[in-house]
This record gives sequence, structure tokens and C-alpha cells, in this order.
Amino acid sequence: MNTLTQNIQAINQSVQAAQEQANNQEAVKVVAVTKTVEADTMRQLFDLGIHRFGENRDQVLLAKQEALADINDQIEWHFIGRLQSRKVKSIINQIDYLHSLDRLSLAKEIQKRADQPVKCFLQVNVSGEASKAGFAPEEVVSAIEALAPYDKVQIVGLMTMAPYEASESDLHRYFADLKQLQETVSQLKLPYAPCQDLSMGMSRDYPIAIVEGATYVRIGTAFFQGLE
Ligand SMILES: *Cc1c(COP(=O)(O)O)cnc(C)c1O
Repeated sequence: MNTLTQNIQAINQSVQAAQEQANNQEAVKVVAVTKTVEADTMRQLFDLGIHRFGENRDQVLLAKQEALADINDQIEWHFIGRLQSRKVKSIINQIDYLHSLDRLSLAKEIQKRADQPVKCFLQVNVSGEASKAGFAPEEVVSAIEALAPYDKVQIVGLMTMAPYEASESDLHRYFADLKQLQETVSQLKLPYAPCQDLSMGMSRDYPIAIVEGATYVRIGTAFFQGLE
């Protein structure tokens, strides 16, 4: 069995185990973050059953879509990186999910450029780290309310990145905090913000995120470790 296949199996097993612990009915969706690999590795992933890809740079995303044009309509594309307003136009109609809605000016630009409503996660800076993008937890409700005029922005959920050096108990707390915020927003029952999903958890912390209610995890390194 090759390394990629082994990595996929190991990830599937940990996702499964964490999901059972979480008592989560619906399957957690794994986004393979492919920002560090070339299109040929993505094609191998695709052939092994992975059809959800996450990228964080507009030009790279477009180049990979071109390289995978023959299977592109079977791929779900997730944009997970900081998106500059002037780049919105180039990718907004080429992606299925935006995980990084981190400011209202970005929503305004999406409104201008999107042909159809875009499924977005509102990015929340749960830890307050200065280097991280996103809304502070206490800003989330007013930010969601301020999105009302933008019918091209649909808030499917909240997203966060935990600090690199966080302890296990801090991780539990950050992810639980985001879950609580997600429930608060969904209870507002705003038609443009169903907010049922939680995009949280990366290679080093996804089992904890799933236990705390993640519905999407964004996994890069764990897929590709040990590959030449
Ligand atoms: C790179 C990246 C990931 C994946 O990180 P790994 O540690 O490689 O799993 C997830 N989310 C975002 C926003 C990223 O930039």
C-alpha cells in the first residue's frame, strides 16, 4: 500500500473515532488542503476518493483547476486563505465555499462580483492573536447582522484557526467557544445565515475539533507526510 493511501486511511480512522466520541450524526467533511502539492498529487487523491480540495492562493487555485479541467466538475473547491478584495473577481465564481470571510469590505466586494450566492464561513479569531485574521468573538453577531444587505453572501457557518502553540485544554476551549457562537448565530434564524456548520481543525488538532463539533476539518500536512 502506498504512502498516500496509508495517510488517507489513518485520517479516515481518526475522523471516524473522533466522530463517534462526539456523538455526531452527520459525517464530518474532510477538506484536503492541497496548497503544498502539485496538481498530479491532487489527481492521485481524487482517484483515491478525495474530492474536496482547499487552496489559499487565487492564482494557484486557478492553475490547478485548469490542470484538472477534465475532473473539475466533480471537485468541490474550498478557498481557505486570506482573500484580497481585488482578487475576489478572479475566483469568486470558481469556488464552492469561502472559509475566510474576515471583514465586511470583503462581503461588499463579493456582492459586486458573485453571479450567485456564495457559501461562506465567517472567520473568527477565537484566541485574539494579533497575527490572525477574523472577527473577534464579541463582534460576530453584529457582523452577521451587518451582512443583511448582501444577498450574494450566505453564511453557512463559522471558521477558526487555533494558535499553533495552544495546549490541549486551550484547544478544547477555543473550539467549544466557536460551537457556542455558531449556535447563537443559528438561533437568530436569519435567512441568509443558517450557520449550521463549523470549519475548525487542522492536521495537529482535528480530532479535538471534531469532538467539539466540527463539521468541516481542513487537513493538509497529514495527507502528505512521508511522500517524496
Ligand atoms: C494550511 C492550512 C490548513 C492545513 O494545515 P495543516 O496543518 O497542513 O493541516 C488549514 N487551514 C488553513 C486556513 C490553512 O492555511
